[in-house]
Amino acid sequence: MIDTKTPNKQSMYDTVMSQFNKTADIIDLNPNIRKILGITNNEIIVHFPVKMDNGNVEVFTGYRVQHNNALGPYKGGLRYHDTVDIDAAKALAMWMTWKTSLAGLPFGGAKGGIKIDPRKFSDSELERITRRFTYALGENIGPEHDIPAPDVNTNPQTMAWIVDTYMSTISSSERSHNQHVVTGKPVGAGGLEGRDRATGFGVYLSIKLLLQTQGLALHNKTFIVQGYGNVGYWASHFLTKDGAKLIAVQDAHATLYNENGIDAEALSQHCEPRKGSIAGFEGAREIDAENFFGLDCDIVIPAALGNQITAENAYKIKATIIAEGANGPTDKDGEQILLENGKIIIPDIFCNSGGVIGSYFEWLQNRNGEMWQLEEVMEKIEKKITQNFHKIHSEVLKQQTDWRTAAFILAISRVETAYKQRGIFP
Ligand code: NAD
Repeated sequence: MIDTKTPNKQSMYDTVMSQFNKTADIIDLNPNIRKILGITNNEIIVHFPVKMDNGNVEVFTGYRVQHNNALGPYKGGLRYHDTVDIDAAKALAMWMTWKTSLAGLPFGGAKGGIKIDPRKFSDSELERITRRFTYALGENIGPEHDIPAPDVNTNPQTMAWIVDTYMSTISSSERSHNQHVVTGKPVGAGGLEGRDRATGFGVYLSIKLLLQTQGLALHNKTFIVQGYGNVGYWASHFLTKDGAKLIAVQDAHATLYNENGIDAEALSQHCEPRKGSIAGFEGAREIDAENFFGLDCDIVIPAALGNQITAENAYKIKATIIAEGANGPTDKDGEQILLENGKIIIPDIFCNSGGVIGSYFEWLQNRNGEMWQLEEVMEKIEKKITQNFHKIHSEVLKQQTDWRTAAFILAISRVETAYKQRGIFP
């Protein structure tokens, strides 16, 4: 099991800033625009009281950081985790701006959450915490202003509580057409068919497309996954369906290994009644957590938290492809080692962008009063990711650079163009 203190929030912010500064230098970013993009627009911290099951009142701290909205309303997840704080939210919000820009969406970037370990609360406490957090955020979120989505330890149910609270606290004339205040809702509450699998599908597709550029296929490729939640499970589902072999999984509770292959569906069924934990699964044996990243395999998929691949373990990685399902899983020292060792990193702002692309379609569906079928949603997501992949690949070849740098060049340049065309008010 990994020490959950490992993802150092300050260094996640350092990581995103060093990526930004490196790219700004390469593209010679306009110095005025550099000043704007190097800082977050709004940082909202709320403290709010919630009645616990035992009758006592606890006060919680919630965050929402809005980095930039030059391209459209702020967009980004809400996370419930002990590591949530203002620096983590700032870093993750900035990544969202680059992700939505790169994906060609009409959104900006935001992120937030509550500093809690949700496993310590009952479902009814979590519902009251979520509703009161939504109420405390008030008009800081809104369907045309800032649109949250699920992230670590939040899910469609969390989004359903938010939309219900939001709709219940705005004027009655507004209620009927505001359910796009959040995305990632359950399908019965205005959610999009396929949004659940969109991020994992994008991770799978990005690996498949990368292999295709090398004349290779997924069949018999081995992969390991850190984090077996929404992203880790769905990526494993699509990869194993396409012939790849899942040989190790690590989550907050255990590290499992089976060189003959782990059944992704059986592992998911095992997790469900155990609050998501993979521990105790009989289809694999438990190994030491420290040995995880060094396992012999073709592909590593970090799909849990930030700063998991660092100078301490990057040199152990034998896989040739690192597909960043999580946001910010590789810190700058870890990245340097991987690149020096000839590894290809499919960067988070592209690799996990299937989620926000799915969210965009959910937002459009709600806004237009439409109901889309699973098949058409998956086709649209596939088309968009494939187009974006080829844009980044061309930039990699043009600049003779790594995939993250190419992705950042495209993402930051698009925001720069918007500022240049619109000017700065007044
Ligand atoms: P989730 O809550 O569904 O799953 C998180 C998983 O990470 C769980 O299996 C948990 O046990 C594991 N984990 C937590 N702490 C860990 C630790 N210290 N060591 C090892 N494993 C640990 O979350 P998710 O939605 O799958 O998100 C995972 C990552 O993907 C996050 O970085 C998130 O920001 C990113 N992401 C998610 C989406 C989405 O649509 N859900 C979209 C884009 C990016």
